[in-house]
Amino acid sequence: MELIDTHAHLDFPKFNKDRAVVIKRAKEAGVNIIIDVGGDLPSSHRALKLSQTFPGIYATVGVHPHDADQLDQKALKILKDLAKADRIVAIGEIGLDYYYDNSPREIQREAFRKQLELAREVGLPVVIHNREADEDTLDILKEMRVEEIGGVMHCFASDLKMARECLALGLYLAFGGVTTFKNAKNLQGVVREVPLEKILLETDSPYLTPHPHRGKRNEPAYVRYVAEKIAELKQIPLKEVAEKTTANAREVFNLNE
Ligand SMILES: [Zn+2]
Ligand SMILES: [Zn+2]
Repeated sequence: MELIDTHAHLDFPKFNKDRAVVIKRAKEAGVNIIIDVGGDLPSSHRALKLSQTFPGIYATVGVHPHDADQLDQKALKILKDLAKADRIVAIGEIGLDYYYDNSPREIQREAFRKQLELAREVGLPVVIHNREADEDTLDILKEMRVEEIGGVMHCFASDLKMARECLALGLYLAFGGVTTFKNAKNLQGVVREVPLEKILLETDSPYLTPHPHRGKRNEPAYVRYVAEKIAELKQIPLKEVAEKTTANAREVFNLNE
């Protein structure tokens, strides 16, 4: 059985002591491909380096809404150069985070627009982070015609109405550890309704560790718990979830491995 973890942060210091072991454990669990997602310039550089160091690792480059105020012309140019590298498969994570509001909202929106434009220019899909910003996220995705760019709503946690709006724009929805939480009934209802053809798996390691490891550091091998939960919710075989989500990830990120 092969699984793809479409969203991890293995470049984070939390993995400095045992990164190679974590990647080995993932492979043993059937997770042969991991996408390491950048969130600012240093982590984008680190993600690229990781993808050049370990087989099966791909990377994205982008500036997270938390750090949106870092995205000046110079940073945008650096991202554009990085995006041309061989194993870069998307621009991300980009978007809006109105929960933490670490950057002023107008600046978040500007950085989001600029990076959607960058994705269009370099011909890569986008990895979108949206937390408590459904309305503005949708407005900008429509305004920037994301349906022509392609991409994924990572760690999808909104309602069914938002899911349908995103699907109508041709986006994939990535589900992670939260779907396994006992108090995630609404989200589990959304998973039941979203067609498997549009679902991706992710961990967002080191965060959002699925049940039964909740509370500990997350790692890509645990993406299996998410796959199992989706199989249970949809009442289909795990094998079908693995095959379909792996094919979906290959399609959206253009992976030919
Ligand atoms: Zn995120
Ligand atoms: Zn992330």
